[in-house]
This record gives sequence, structure tokens and C-alpha cells, in this order.
Amino acid sequence: MRIKKLPDDIIVKIAAGEVISGTYNVVKELIENSIDAGADKIRVEIIDGGKSKIVVEDNGDGMSLEEMRIAVKPHTTSKIDKFDDLYSINSFGFRGEALASISEISRMSISSKKENDLTGYEIFYIGGKEVEVKEVTKNKGTKIEVNDLFFNIPARRKFLKSSSSESRKVTDIVEKFILSENIDFEYIRNGKEIYKFYKNDKHTDKIITLFPELKLEDLIEINQNIGWGSIKGFISNPKTTRGNRSAQIFFVNKRYVKEGDLFSVFERSYGEMLDKGRHPYGVLFINVLPDNVDVNVHPQKLEVKFSDQNIIMKDMKNILRENLVEKTKFNLNFEKI
Ligand code: ADP
Ligand code: MG
Repeated sequence: MRIKKLPDDIIVKIAAGEVISGTYNVVKELIENSIDAGADKIRVEIIDGGKSKIVVEDNGDGMSLEEMRIAVKPHTTSKIDKFDDLYSINSFGFRGEALASISEISRMSISSKKENDLTGYEIFYIGGKEVEVKEVTKNKGTKIEVNDLFFNIPARRKFLKSSSSESRKVTDIVEKFILSENIDFEYIRNGKEIYKFYKNDKHTDKIITLFPELKLEDLIEINQNIGWGSIKGFISNPKTTRGNRSAQIFFVNKRYVKEGDLFSVFERSYGEMLDKGRHPYGVLFINVLPDNVDVNVHPQKLEVKFSDQNIIMKDMKNILRENLVEKTKFNLNFEKI
């Protein structure tokens, strides 16, 4: 018979190659797991842009030895039980693929301890195979170390970018979590502390740290409830702009999304207040009822589908516009869409 079913480890390796295009995917998946585990303290460390080492450590619920062994198998998750759960999901994960993929293509270790367990455990994997397990003394929570990503698929490893370019993407994704989560967060790159934030830090302090060229008075607060949900966050006044859109950051139900419509609606709300070729700053949290967004879009694509796309976009434009006109004392005719 020339047709045969692929062995599981090959299936996982192929899937991993599709899901993990750079080190930032690994960092993103691990941070999301920490948040899903209820952590309010996360430490992220990378070396060589994450190509030699990625460490994500949290103080979340932790796992028992048995749970750790299940967690690294393909399609194992604690986050949904049945298909319908997908429509009211409020965790980042639900596919049960990340740990299986990452362990298959790296030298990975997981150490974890649950609150009431007497001891924690650490398991070492090489290319998906468990090679060692030992007891460890640690606090409640989980620490995952990922070394030498794609070491066993040289053809894929070649496609990782330079350390500085991988590093930039990791920093970008870390910044999104810093903005969206109220937790203690530490980010260390090549042994150097890049960011350290605390749970109670103000949003504006975070924004100004990430964009040091901004001043507090450049920012306009948006805080509006509306029938389908709410829009909150900060946007810059029309004269505080930059030459690209990289400071326009949107979250839908706390997930970072990158979608054309949001960018264009955001800028259209400024309309003629903007100088040509200039782009305002914005960190906006759009919250809608879970059944109004499709979460089943591909997790890597950062897209979002609203079921009432037109209404939400129109309301967003009007809300931002009203705030801008009112708070910057622009006296303009409100052009409705
Ligand atoms: P998913 O997040 O889609 O469920 P993952 O492969 O990322 O799939 O994780 C598998 C399971 O391992 C999770 O459902 C969770 O139960 C457990 N897990 C992963 N990371 C952590 C963590 N940092 N703390 C506690 N449990 C974790
Ligand atoms: Mg996950």
C-alpha cells in the first residue's frame, strides 16, 4: 500500500512549522497560557531574539506532574469541553496545540507547582521526547524554557530572521500584553531588563514608557459605553502624530488585533484635523459581547470579524470624532457617515 497515515510526531512537526513562523509566536503562546492560568505576575526572558532561549515564568495555577504530561500532547486543553463553548470563550487558548508544537521542535523544559502540592516537578523534553523528570522546589506557578527552536528541523531554522529582527517582533508582542493586562510584567532581553511594570501602574504611564516621545497632555481619554459594548483607551490629539501607523494599537475583547478597517475608521475619525501623511497615536480597547465576534478566525492572523461590522465601525468613528471635537476644541461640522 503506498498510502499510509503519517506518524503523530511528523504531523505535529508539520503543524508546528505552520503555526510557528518566528520566536514571537512562541512567546505569544506562552504568555497567553500564563494569563489563561490566572497569573498576575509574568517574567519573559529571551536570548538571541529567542533563537537560543525563551523563558516565560508565571505565578498562575500551575500543573501537577500528570497534567504537565497531558498538556504537551497534541490537542489537549483544559479550556473547552464542547464545541458550543467556542461561542462564549474567554480564554486565549482552546486549540491545545501550542505546547505540543513547541516541545516537538525545541529542547523544552516545564516546571510547575500547584498551590496545594507539596512539591513541584520539572520535565525536560528534546524534540518532543521526555528525557528527564525531577522534583523541584518552587512557588505556585509555571516556568517554561524553550531552547534552540527548530534545532531538529534545520530547513525551518534557516528561515528564522536575524536575532535583532526576531527580537524586535518579540518586543512588539510583549508591549501589547503590557498594554492590555493589569499584571506585574518583567521583560529581559539578553540579560538586560527592558521593561518592568507593576499591576497598578496607570495606563498612561505605560503608554508614555512605550512611546517616550509622548507627553501626558498629548493624550485624550476615551471611555464610552454603547449598546453593543464599549470603547476605552487613549488617543493622541490631532497634532501629535508620526509618519507611520505603528502606534495604532487595537484590542478586541483584550485580544490584540490588526485589521484594516480599524485603522481606517480610526484615522477617518480625525478627518481634516490631520496633516497630510501624518498618523495619530491610539491604544483602544473595543469590548463587544462574545457572540458578536468570531474567535474562530486563525489565531496567528490577528484578524477580527464582528457580526455587526458596519454598525460597530460607524459607532466607533462617531465616538472618537465626538471626543476629538469636544476635547481639542475643534469647531468643525460633524460629517456623519
Ligand atoms: P491551549 O492553551 O489551547 O489549551 P496549550 O498547548 O497552549 O493549549 O496548553 C495546553 C494546556 O496546558 C492548557 O489548556 C493548560 O491546561 C495547560 N497549561 C499550559 N500552560 C500553562 C501555564 N502556564 N499554567 C498552567 N497551565 C498551563
Ligand atoms: Mg495555549
